[in-house]
Amino acid sequence: MVAVAAMTIAIAWRVWPDAPRASTRRFADIPRIDVHVHVPPALAERALRTFREHGGVVMALNASGGHPNGGGLEESAEAMRRTNGALRPYCHLDLSRVERADFADYARRSLHACRDAGAVGLKVFKALGLGISLADGSLLAVDDPRLDVVFETAGELALPVLIHSGDPQAFFEPATRDNERWDELSAHPSWSFHGARPDGHGAWPSWREVFEQYERRVARHPRTRFLGAHFGNAPEEPETVARMLDAYPNLFVETGARIPEIGRHDPARMRALFVRHRERILFGTDFQIGARGTLVLGSAGREADPPSRVPVFYEAHFRYFETADRRFAHPTPIQGDWTIDGLDLPRDVLEDLYWRNATRLFGISAPPGRSTP
Ligand SMILES: [Zn+2]
Repeated sequence: MVAVAAMTIAIAWRVWPDAPRASTRRFADIPRIDVHVHVPPALAERALRTFREHGGVVMALNASGGHPNGGGLEESAEAMRRTNGALRPYCHLDLSRVERADFADYARRSLHACRDAGAVGLKVFKALGLGISLADGSLLAVDDPRLDVVFETAGELALPVLIHSGDPQAFFEPATRDNERWDELSAHPSWSFHGARPDGHGAWPSWREVFEQYERRVARHPRTRFLGAHFGNAPEEPETVARMLDAYPNLFVETGARIPEIGRHDPARMRALFVRHRERILFGTDFQIGARGTLVLGSAGREADPPSRVPVFYEAHFRYFETADRRFAHPTPIQGDWTIDGLDLPRDVLEDLYWRNATRLFGISAPPGRSTP
């Protein structure tokens, strides 16, 4: 029995052996804080070693930090202590409780528990808007007023909200061979938000409807800081992201899993956006590690990503931010068959992007050798 258990563990680890070292030498020697990763707390040390060796990432914020009061956040807090704060959790709330009479009380209590456990912020998943059904069968909207207490309290407690609303625009188009995200949609039919909902309660909302709910949510809470996941939830429309950054000083965006999409736009236009909003764009990758150590680098196909792709994944990010290279491969091939163009950002903008903005937004101390003005 003991031998069998040991063997199982050995096989699980072999799924994720140490990957070959990346050639990050050609990229800027700047410490990086990745504000969007998913790591099981038990694998914290191993994950951090990989992040540091291949991505120069000295700290990572875990968007799978768990729920307070017995829902996994305690394990994440323990991993934070073990790693001297190098892996820090966001926490989650069960928003499906919104129709219960005690929801406001639950939300306030839970957010206080999140803060007390040391969570850096609240993570809101795309299930809000696309996955949580109410008693009447309708979907819980991102801007449902009964959730106001969640976002107001997060603001009072100075917990930024990492919010994922909607999904790639192509997921709202027919899931056919003509769809440019067919590789992902054919591997994961449930990722489609086109047409009728599978539970029989009408149609999916459009991409625009969900996005407008998200914008109303950001507008409603000027004292709450929002970190729009996946390039502000609109990587296909950088002009929309720029308009929102101009309109809402409480909005920040991160780059997780969207270099393929933003890298398709005119690099001069994107560079101007990154420079203009240099204090509110943060480095995130959406690097995901499964419970058994399997890897998902930006998006999943039918199988997990091989460890040999880790250096390639990081290098494509750095090449995008730091070089003026043209027509090169993006970090996540399954997201589509196209190339991207680099931004060649100035060094000081890279310092903001890679770590300085994260220390400001989350109130964490600067990496060794750096200080936050
Ligand atoms: Zn994520």
